[in-house]
Amino acid sequence: MKKSFFVTTPIYYVNDIPHIGHAYTTVAADVLARYYRMEGSHVFFLTGTDEHGQKVQEAAQERNISPQEHCDHMVGRFQDLWKKFTISNDDFIRTTEERHKTVVQKILTQLYNKGDIYKTSYEGSYCVPDERFWTEKDLIDGCCPECRRPVQQIQESNYFFRMSSYHTWLIQYIEENEHFILPKTRRNEILGFLKQPLADLCISRPRKRLSWGIPLPFDSNYVTYVWFDALINYVSTSGYLTDTENFTPLWNSAVHLIGKDILTTHSVYWPTMLRAMGLAPPRTIFAHGWWTVEGQKMSKSLRNTVEPNMLIEQYGVDAIRFFLLREGTFGLDSDFSHQALIHRINSDLANDLGNLFNRSLAMALKYFAGSIPEPSTLEGIDEHLRDTAVQVKNEVDLHMENIALHKSLDAIWKLVRMTNKYIDETAPWALAKDTRQEKRLATVIHTMLESLRFITTLLFPFMPTSAEAMWRALGCSETLSQHTISNGTQWGKLTTGTAVTKIPPLFPRIEG
Ligand SMILES: [Zn+2]
Repeated sequence: MKKSFFVTTPIYYVNDIPHIGHAYTTVAADVLARYYRMEGSHVFFLTGTDEHGQKVQEAAQERNISPQEHCDHMVGRFQDLWKKFTISNDDFIRTTEERHKTVVQKILTQLYNKGDIYKTSYEGSYCVPDERFWTEKDLIDGCCPECRRPVQQIQESNYFFRMSSYHTWLIQYIEENEHFILPKTRRNEILGFLKQPLADLCISRPRKRLSWGIPLPFDSNYVTYVWFDALINYVSTSGYLTDTENFTPLWNSAVHLIGKDILTTHSVYWPTMLRAMGLAPPRTIFAHGWWTVEGQKMSKSLRNTVEPNMLIEQYGVDAIRFFLLREGTFGLDSDFSHQALIHRINSDLANDLGNLFNRSLAMALKYFAGSIPEPSTLEGIDEHLRDTAVQVKNEVDLHMENIALHKSLDAIWKLVRMTNKYIDETAPWALAKDTRQEKRLATVIHTMLESLRFITTLLFPFMPTSAEAMWRALGCSETLSQHTISNGTQWGKLTTGTAVTKIPPLFPRIEG
C-alpha cells in the first residue's frame, strides 16, 4: 500500500491581505507536498480560508453587503496568489462551505452528548464597543486594553468544552512524542504553558452579539466560536465521518505547518478536541518563525514594499520561492530585504546554478553537437562527484523528514558547487584540444550532465517551473512531476544519444 502524507497550512483569515508570511507557510507546504508525491506517497495538501467571526461580520456591514458576499469577494486574493506561486494544493477549504459546517455540527453534537460540552453563566469585564470580554489581568487601569474605554461587569451564559479534563493526558502525550511539536523550543514553550492550570474553553458566542458563525446544533441562540470551527477544517476535508478508509492513513501522517502566533490553539485546543472526539493528534505541528522586513516588524506600509504579487512580477516566482526557504532557518525568524534577495539571486541562482547549467549545455553542444555522449570508465574524480550526488540525495531525504527545508537546499547547493568545481578541475576545453582524449571528454561531459539531472530532480519541489525547463533541456522524456525521486536520483539514468537543447538563461543577474 502507498504511504500517505497529509500537509496543511493554517486556513488564512479571509479579511487579511496576503503577505510574505502567508506565502512562506504555503510555499513550504507545497515543497513538502511535491517532494512526497515524487517519493510515491499518496499526498493530500490542504489550504483554505477562515471565514467566520466578528470582524468579517463588521467588514460586511461597512460595505453594506452580506458576510457571505464579502467572503466570496475576498477569498480570490488568496486563490489567485497561490496560482501565481504554482502552489499544488489538492483542496481549498472555505469554512463557510456546507461540507465543513456539517462536520463541525456533527462533532459538536457528539461532544455535547458525551458530556464534554456544558453550559454555564459567568460574569466578566466586557468592553461594549469592542464587543469582547477581557480577563482581570488584561485590563489596563481597569480599562479595555484595546480602546482604553471603561469596561462593564456583565453576566453571560455560554457553552464550554471540558478542555481541563485532558490537561494531564496532553502533558504526557507531548512528553512521550518528541516529534509532535517542532521545533524543540516551541515544544518547551507549550510544556511551560501547561504547568499552569488549564481552563475549559468557551466555544460559543450568543447570537445577539454575533450572528456570523456556525449555529450550535443543540441551541440556536448561539454560534460556534471561530477557533473551534476553524481547527476542524483539518478533518472535515480529509474524510472524517465521511470516508474512513481514506481518512485514517492520511490523519496518521498529518503535518500542520503554522506560524508561531497560533501555537497554543494548535497544540493545546486542537489535540484536546481530537482526544474528546476519539482521534489521535496529528503527527507533527511545526511552528515557523516570523518575517521582519528590512530589519523591522512588518507594518502596513512595509508590507507594500514586499507585496507578494509584486515580488513575483519583479523577480520571478522560483526566485521568490527559493529565497523564502533558503534565506532563513526554517523555524526561526527571518529578515526580508530587497538587497538580500538580489544577493541570493545573483550568487546562488545566477552564478552557481544558472552558470553551471548554461556552460554544461554549451559544452555538450559544442563538443558533441548536443548529443549526450557515452561515458567510458570512471576515474576517481568522476566517482567522487557520483558519490557526492548520492550522498546529497540521502541528506535531502533526512532533512525533509525533519522539515528542515533550508538544510535540504544547503545540501543541494553542495552538489551544485561540487559540479562547478568538477568542471574547473577536469577542464573539458583542454581535453577537447587533444584528439587522444576524446573518450575522456565524453565521460566528463556525461558525468556533469548526469549530476545536473540529479540537481534538477532534487530542485523540483522547490522550483518546479525552472526544474521542468532544465529537465527538458537535458533531453529527459517524461515531465518531472510524473517522475519519482528514486528514479531521478539513480546514477546512470541519463540516456546516451539523447539531444540536449539550449534554453535562455534561467536566472539572469540583477544589476542593482
Ligand atoms: Zn474596548
